[in-house]
Amino acid sequence: MNIKYYNKKLNLYIIINSDLLNSIKSNVKDYYPKEVGGVFVGYYNKNEAIITNFIIPNKIENSFCFFKRNVDNINKELKKIFIEENNIYIGEWHSHPNGDNMYSNIDFNTIKKIANDEDVKIENPLLLIVGFNNSDYFLRFYVYKNEELLEYEQV
Ligand SMILES: [Zn+2]
Repeated sequence: MNIKYYNKKLNLYIIINSDLLNSIKSNVKDYYPKEVGGVFVGYYNKNEAIITNFIIPNKIENSFCFFKRNVDNINKELKKIFIEENNIYIGEWHSHPNGDNMYSNIDFNTIKKIANDEDVKIENPLLLIVGFNNSDYFLRFYVYKNEELLEYEQV
């Protein structure tokens, strides 16, 4: 089943399969109380961002800017995915153990850096933050646009 998120201001959608979201949630739970995160791959179709998969780095660090990090498996897998499926890097996700789904200053600066990076072919990266308190999940999607992180609502 596909789950849809919508940003009214920009008229943009995110589409993600519920199995994929559940898989992200189980990673968040498995790593709890440590943080975990990864990158999203997918493609755009008009005003829809379709998330087809995610990649977790083989080396988890405390702060999260996976793309262009020294995380070999991410860059290798992104290359392979591009060649085989024509899908691209479209954003990032990470957990906030015992936290909410508001982005931090570090989160904002990280995503801004990604958006302004000439090597990244995407100007409006997505960000998913998953707050988790060992029983409930608090998910929020954002898109970076015009120096802002704008929220999506599930529709
Ligand atoms: Zn964060």
